[in-house]
Amino acid sequence: MNFDFTEEQKLFADQVRRFALAHLEKDALKRAHDPRFPFDVAKLMSKQGLMGITIPEADGGQGGTLIDAVIAIEQIAAVCPRSADVVQFGNFGPIRTFAEYGTPAQKQRWLPELLAGNMVMSLGMTEPDAGSAVTDLKTSAKPDGSNFVLNGTKVFSTFSPEAAIFLIYVRYGPGLGGIGSVIVERDTGGFTIGAPSSFMSGEQWSELHFENCRVPAENVLLGPGGFKKQMGSFNIERLGNTARALAFGRYAYNAARDYAGTREQFGRPLCEFQGLQWKFAEMAIKLEGAQLLLYRAATNADRGLPSAYETAIAKAACNQVGFDVASEAVQVMGALGYSRETLVEYCMRRTRGWMIAGGSIEMLKNRIAEHVFDRRFDQRPRHADAAE
Ligand SMILES: Cc1cc2nc3c(=O)[nH]c(=O)nc-3n(C[C@H](O)[C@H](O)[C@H](O)COP(=O)(O)OP(=O)(O)OC[C@H]3O[C@@H](n4cnc5c(N)ncnc54)[C@H](O)[C@@H]3O)c2cc1C
Repeated sequence: MNFDFTEEQKLFADQVRRFALAHLEKDALKRAHDPRFPFDVAKLMSKQGLMGITIPEADGGQGGTLIDAVIAIEQIAAVCPRSADVVQFGNFGPIRTFAEYGTPAQKQRWLPELLAGNMVMSLGMTEPDAGSAVTDLKTSAKPDGSNFVLNGTKVFSTFSPEAAIFLIYVRYGPGLGGIGSVIVERDTGGFTIGAPSSFMSGEQWSELHFENCRVPAENVLLGPGGFKKQMGSFNIERLGNTARALAFGRYAYNAARDYAGTREQFGRPLCEFQGLQWKFAEMAIKLEGAQLLLYRAATNADRGLPSAYETAIAKAACNQVGFDVASEAVQVMGALGYSRETLVEYCMRRTRGWMIAGGSIEMLKNRIAEHVFDRRFDQRPRHADAAE
C-alpha cells in the first residue's frame, strides 16, 4: 500500500496547478457567477491536454488514468472552482460513456469537437416521474424504418441550454432490458428545449421535450439491454462529482484557514480562538478521510470498472464532507464568507447540489446497506407493478 503519488503524478499535478494559476486565477470569481459554459476555458484546457484524459489516444484523448483526471479536478478547483466543471465535462460526464460505446462513425463525427472544447454535450436521464427511480423512465424510442421515433420529457439536464448534442436515456421496450440511449442533435425536428431554469448553484437546465422526434438509427448509442453498461460508466461520472465536491470543500477550507490566520477580533487573530481551532481540526479529519475513499475508488477503477460499493462510499462521504466543510468555512469567515465577494459561499451552494445529483446520498446509502447485509433491498412496494 502506498499513500503517495508517483513522481509522474506529482509532476502532472504541478503542471496543472501552474496552468491554472497562469490562466484561470484572475477571473475565478467572475466565472463562478456566470451561468454560461466557459467555452474559452474548455478551449484552453484542450490545448493543455486536460480534455479526454482517460479517453484512448486513438479516439483523440490522452490515454491517461482516472486518478490523473481526479488530480486535474483537484488542481484546477484549488485555483478556479468553476473551471473544474470543464474538467468534469471533458473527462467524467456523458462524454465518457459516449467514447466507450459510440460507434467509430459517431465518435468521428462528434468527439473531435467535444474534445476541442467547441461543443458541449448534455445528459438526459431524469424525467418528471423518474428521478431516483430512474428505471421508471418513460421516454420511448420506437423503430420506424431507418429511424427511431422519440416521445417524452427530460428534466434537470446540466448544460442543456447550450448543448449541441444530448445523450438521452430511452425506453425501447418494457423493463430494465428495454432501456438504452440515443444521441439527439439540438436542431432535430420534434425536439424542443424549454426556457432555462436555475439551480441554487446558478447552473441552468431546460426541459427537453420529444414529440414524434425522428432520430436516425445510426444515432443509437446503446440498444435494448444497454442500461447496465450505462450504469457502469455512470459510476465513473460519479467519481467526477465526488472529486469536485471534495475539491470545492477544500477550496473553502483553504480560504477560511488563510482568513483565520490574519483576521483579528478582540485583539487576536481568529486562529487563536480554540472554538475555531477545533472547527479546523474537524474539517481536516473529514477532508483527509474522504480523500482516501476517493483515491481508493479512482485507483481501483483504473484496474477495471469502478466497484459500485467503493464509488458509493466515496461519493456519499465526499458529498457530505464537501458541503459540511464549505458550510463551516462560511461560518468561520462570518459575513464575508456569506457574501459574493469570496468563492466560499459559491462552494457551499455547489456542494449542496452534489448531495442530490448523480445518485443522492440516500440512494448511495441504500447501495452501501445492500453491501453491508449482502442482499438486495427492493425499494418498491411488494404489490407494485414494478418497471423492472
Ligand atoms: C445540480 C444537479 C445537476 C443535475 N444534472 C442532471 C443531468 O445532467 N442530467 C439528468 O438527467 N439529471 C440531472 N440531475 C437530476 C438528478 O439526477 C436527480 O435530481 C436525482 O436523480 C434525484 O431525483 P429527484 O430530484 O427527482 O428526487 P426524488 O427521486 O424525487 O427524491 C426526493 C428525495 O427522496 C429521496 N429518496 C428517493 N427515493 C429514496 C429511497 N428509495 N430511499 C431513500 N431516500 C429516497 C432522495 O434521496 C431525495 O432526497 C441533476 C440534479 C442536480 C441537483
